[in-house]
Amino acid sequence: MTAELSDLYQEVTLDHQKSPRNYGTLDEPDGHADGANPLCGDRVTVHVKIHDGVATDVRFQGVGCAICTSSASMMTTRVKGKSLEEIDGLFSSFHDLLTGDAAPGDDTPTLGKLKIFEGVRNFPIRVKCATLPWHTLRAAILGVDEAVTTE
Ligand code: ZN
Repeated sequence: MTAELSDLYQEVTLDHQKSPRNYGTLDEPDGHADGANPLCGDRVTVHVKIHDGVATDVRFQGVGCAICTSSASMMTTRVKGKSLEEIDGLFSSFHDLLTGDAAPGDDTPTLGKLKIFEGVRNFPIRVKCATLPWHTLRAAILGVDEAVTTE
């Protein structure tokens, strides 16, 4: 972790890294997918329950760096109870935030606490750590029952 990232960022990510939310698996998930980020060694598995177009439950499991784990943890708390359309929108906003397609300070109210990952955009090699859980969630939702890689 670099000193250039803000204290707030460190505080939140450390909290989620130490006690990840929604960690584990689901019995008979409607969708699940495995994701890997070979650059960093992050691996995540995402399980999702979908009812009437809403993600009623989301769990993740895996081995990852602080950014990957905290991103996955925050993602699960953010998308639970959201419609698949909303999740798609969140994914796009989050991706834009990290890849710089959105101007700094852009108004992205839907992201809420996820905006904390904005600093990651300054460390391109870490962007995939933060987006891997989201790519994997999307694959799980699409019902693509196969490995996802960031490469
Ligand atoms: Zn990583």
